Parts: sequence; C-alpha cells; structure tokens
Amino acid sequence: MTRRKIILLTGLAVLGAAYLCCLPRDIFRGVPYATVVEDASGQLLGARIAADGQWRFPPCDSVPERYEKALIQFEDRHFRYHPGVDPLAIGRALVQNLRAGHVESGGSTLTMQVIRLSRGKRRTFWQKAVEAVLATRLELRCTKDEILALYASHAPFGGNVVGLEAAAWRYYGRPADALSWGEAATLAVLPNAPSSIHPGKRREALLQKRNRLLKRLLDHGDLDETSYELACEEPLPDTPHPLPAHAPHLVARAQEGIRSRTSVRLELQQAVEAVADRWSDELARGGVADLATVVIDLRSNRPVAYVGNASPARERTGSQVDIVRAPRSTGSILKPILYAAALQEGTILPRTLLPDIPVNINGFSPQNFDLQFYGAVPAAEALARSLNVPAVHLLREYGVPQFHELLRRCGVTTLPHEAAHYGLSLILGGGEGTLLEITSIYAAMARTYLGLQDAFPLNDRMALWHTFEALKEVNRPDEMDWRLVPSLRKAAWKTGTSYGFRDAWAVGVTPDWAVGVWTGNAAGQGVPGLTGARTAGPVLFELLGLLPAETGWFPEPDPEDGVTADVCRASGHLKSLSCNATDRILLPKNALRSAPCPYHREIGGVSTFVLPPAMEWYYKPHHPEYRTPTRTPDALEFIYPEQGSTIYLPRQLDGSTPGIVLQIAHRDPAATVWWHLDQHYLGETRFLHKMSVAPAPGPHTATAVDAEGRTVSVRFTVSE
Ligand SMILES: [Zn+2]
Repeated sequence: MTRRKIILLTGLAVLGAAYLCCLPRDIFRGVPYATVVEDASGQLLGARIAADGQWRFPPCDSVPERYEKALIQFEDRHFRYHPGVDPLAIGRALVQNLRAGHVESGGSTLTMQVIRLSRGKRRTFWQKAVEAVLATRLELRCTKDEILALYASHAPFGGNVVGLEAAAWRYYGRPADALSWGEAATLAVLPNAPSSIHPGKRREALLQKRNRLLKRLLDHGDLDETSYELACEEPLPDTPHPLPAHAPHLVARAQEGIRSRTSVRLELQQAVEAVADRWSDELARGGVADLATVVIDLRSNRPVAYVGNASPARERTGSQVDIVRAPRSTGSILKPILYAAALQEGTILPRTLLPDIPVNINGFSPQNFDLQFYGAVPAAEALARSLNVPAVHLLREYGVPQFHELLRRCGVTTLPHEAAHYGLSLILGGGEGTLLEITSIYAAMARTYLGLQDAFPLNDRMALWHTFEALKEVNRPDEMDWRLVPSLRKAAWKTGTSYGFRDAWAVGVTPDWAVGVWTGNAAGQGVPGLTGARTAGPVLFELLGLLPAETGWFPEPDPEDGVTADVCRASGHLKSLSCNATDRILLPKNALRSAPCPYHREIGGVSTFVLPPAMEWYYKPHHPEYRTPTRTPDALEFIYPEQGSTIYLPRQLDGSTPGIVLQIAHRDPAATVWWHLDQHYLGETRFLHKMSVAPAPGPHTATAVDAEGRTVSVRFTVSE
C-alpha cells in the first residue's frame, strides 16, 4: 500500500468517525420544557410554563395524522423518501430564488429544520450546509416518525407558544389529536411565519397560505370536497385560550419540566370541582373561605378527584395551600378507627354501654357537643352521635399508647410527638391529620373488608362490618340541613369538628369510593357554626351522589369471619348468669375475651339492671323507664374527683389556691349526705351533692356517708 493510500484511508476513517460523532446524543439537551400533568388516560389536567417563559410541552412521541399529512404536504413532500436532504427540493428552490431575484424558498427538509431548531443558528449558506450534513446523520439515528415528532414538539407557533401540543391548546383549546383539517393546516403553515397569527395584514396571507395547502391536500386525495370546503370556511384563531387548570394543587407539586400522569379521572375531576367550587363560594359568604376534597377509588386505591382548595379563582390568601395534604386538627374524625380497633381487640362489643359521665384527667375534662352527659350510651350509638365523653372513656380503656401506635401503623404521619403528649385528647382532635391520609384509612378499612387489601392493621372483618353499620346510622337531622342534600347515597360516614370551630370534616365510604371533605379557613381562624355536619356533610353527600354506584352496600359478612355469642340486650356485654333478655349476635372473634355484663344482678330473686350511682345519676333523666334499685349496698359514688387522681391547682396571683367542687351521686333523691375531708367535717348536702373545698397541696381523702351509714371515699393529690 502506498503512503498516499494510507493517508487517504486514514483521512476517510477520521472523516467517518467525525461524521458518526457530529450529532449530540440528545440534540435538544438543556431545552427547558413546561410541566405537564395528565389524568389517568393521558388527558391534560394542567401545565406550568417552562423555565424560559415558553409554553413548550415535553416532546411527544407521535404526531396526529391530519397534522402530519398537512405538514408533509406543506414543508417537505418527499419527507418519507429522502435521506435528510432533498436534492429535488434544493434544485427547485434554486430555480425559484433565481427567478425571483431573492430567497423565496429554502429547500430545507423537515429533518434539516429539526437540526436548525436544535441549534438555533443564523440562516446562512454555510449553516445550511452543516444542517444538511447533520440531517443525514439524524436520519441514520431516528425513524421518520421520530423526526416528525421532534419537529412538532419544537416548532415555533408565535408568541411564547412552542410545539404542536401547546399550540393546539392555546389556539384551539383542545388536544392536538382533536384538530380539524382547517386547524391542522393552519398549524402546519404557522411555523413558516409564526408572527402572522397576530391580527394584521399578514393574517390574510396566512389564511391564503392555509387554503392553498388545503387545496393541495384535496388534490392529493387526503380530504374530500365537502371537508375541503368546510375547512376553508374555518376562521383563524383569535385570542389564545387559557390552558386547562384542573387539580391546580397537583399540577403545582408535579416534577418540573416533564410530563407526568396522575390517577385523577378528568370527567370526575371536573364534576367534583364544580360541586366543590359552588359549595366553597356559598360557604365563603359565611366566612368559611376554604374547602378541600379528595375521592379515592377503592379498586385502584388512588385518588380519582383531587381538590386541594376549591374556587382557586376567588381572591383570597391561602387558596394556593393544598389542604388535602395539610395537617389539621382531626376533631372526631378518628373515632371510627378507635371503635373498629376496640371491637377487633375485644375491648368492647358493638353495643357495649360506655360511661358518659364527667371525667377530669389532669385538668382535661371533655364535654359532649351539647354539653350534656347521658350516663351510659351503647358504643355504636355514641359513635353515630359522635359523643366525646364516651369516646374518651373508650380510649382510656383501649390505651392511648396503643391507639397512637395504631394510627401510625395505619399510615398517619402527622403525629410527631409521643403518645403522652396528646393523652386522651388524641380522640378529640388533640393531634393533627391530613385529609388524604384520613380518607385513605377509611378507604383501607373498606378495601380490607372487601378483600382488596392485605396487611392493614384493622383487619377483622366482623369489626369492620360493625363499624360500617354504626357509621351508616344517620341520626343527626338537627345538625345537618338535609334539604341541602340532593340525594342520600348509603354510606358509612363520619363528621368531625375541631376545637374552636376551625376545621370541619366529613369522610364517607361506600363499597366503591372513599370521599373526604374538609372546610374551614386555611389560615386557621374559627367560624361559629362551622361544624362537620353542617358544612362538610352536605358536600360529602352531594359528591357521593354524583359518583357512579356499582354496588349498593357492603356484602354481609361470612359467619366464619366471627363468632356467635349471646349478648345482654340492656348492656351490650356478653351475657352474664343474671342477664334476662339476650340476643344472639355475630361478633369479632376476640369478643369472647370481653367482660360479661356487670350491670345485671339478682335483687329479691329478680334479674335487675343496675347502673353504678354516677352513671345512673346522668342516665335516669334520659331513660324514664329506668327503675332505681332500692337497698343496694352501692347507693352512692364519687363523680369527682376520681380515685387516685392528681389535681393541678395553680396558685393565684394573691397567693391563694383555687378551690375544687367535690361531687357524688346518690341513688335516692331524698338522701342526705355528710362530707369529710381528711377527718374534717365539711357539711351536709341534699339532692345535688356538691361540696366546695380549697385543699392545700398534698394527698387528701374525701369521704361521704349517708343516713344508713353507707360510706364512699376517694384519695387524691393536689399539686400546684
Ligand atoms: Zn346484662
């Protein structure tokens, strides 16, 4: 081989290598894209503009047929056949330009235009030559469809609109694959002279150019005569359309610069947004600015509608706060979780009587919403009526640390403190939760019951069934204006209202959906009358009404899932030997661990239902049928303080300590009671047995005795 040949071959090899490497791997590398968020089927929910202020959607991977035909016909008729450069087109362009005496046609192929879009260089002859070389290289790497998609994704369409998709939305308010022939032809022509879209003289030229293209498409057989005539009649677009703006809070949190798909279903989202916006505007007149809602499909376990804060267009601060994920005081919304857990563990049976009498633990003395005490209430009824005091008694029995741990295992991530920090207030909104997590727990309970989910801590089907049954009861007509609710879908639902009327919740499940609604003020100020039942409840039921219902109610549980046992009709406990009326009920397996009825006893050979005196004191006014037993040894009982409790009495500014009011209940309304504190006689009381004292710090014993010598005493400690 001669030296010359070696040099020649080496030169060719270097040239070949240079050619292979001349095109960057990603020719549009570093180009910022808009953030595009789609629904589950790929429909546009909303978008955020790209970092450089351009509406440039992330590249698509295909081009709609009409646009493709129009584009190839207009720009590059031999696109499908040439290797990146089209000698025929260049020849024709040369002839045209020579005849015209100036540059009229570029003879560029679509491939060369893709290269130019990626390089953004000035249009000189030299650049054109470079583009031609690079175009052939791109043709080696990409398919024709890929090159078309690259062009459609990066072509300029006037103003800050880049790419076919953004152009279809901005100019026609619809996705690119829904464009008409007239629209597709307009967008095929537009990148040739992007500014001609704006009103003015060039607009007429644009229209003519479009119609010439339509004629070519007609001649080419791409569209028929009628379609052609209709397409020519179509006007050019006017003012740009705003892009869709559904689920703006999801769009706001989407990863920047990419196209992401969510579980939201556009049609459902639109319907839910309409309801949420209407209610939000209505509630805003009463000072309740914000409303959030989320709908979870039990089959997919994903949100199908997501309203972070309704009516985003209404002027107010805080509308951008995504309340679906904001930690808020839970009010009563966790009570069903405790009820289900207590059933599952055998702490209670569905109708076990829970105490509804005053309780004061380290200064925490919860009240029911109506400030009354009912003495004793079946657990299911206490849940349906959302009574606070029985819930606190139940949590005490179940255990605060156990419940705290359970909530975490159920997926609550908003309880940063130890259980002791929250104490018994945990069941009344002492902790925070997010609408998404809480609605997800309700969803998980239903999914577990329906066999759609494993490994959820609340997994006893009987316990779940009894919980849904209790939550199905709707017996709060006074709290909710039912005329506002168009349809009543059967649902297991619960409301919650936080302390100070700051948060109103309503969460419900059906065998198909879990729906959560929150209303309040994102900034936190309370509004008198803001209750879960009054403001969030009607929204919940309207949303449930518009969701398709595939199944009516949860299927009956399988007897194999539980145990059948005799339950005392009066107390709801497992029957004791003294109980008279009983029912056979299907119960969670652990029910057999629970305590037998403590309230029935034989008095004079007759089975008698006897509540302890304190419960009886509050129970009797609501239950005229209750007969107070006579001559029982336990005629009197302390209501306050509790045995062994510590009472915190901060010293006043003047150095004195505030007093406390001791209280007992006596079964006999006519009884007289004599009081002592630490052997010091305090006085006597009749009917209402309350005694004020101002005990010094330290341990004390309070004693009360009646005329028959029956004595009760409590030990307590006063602490400053
Ligand atoms: Zn009984």
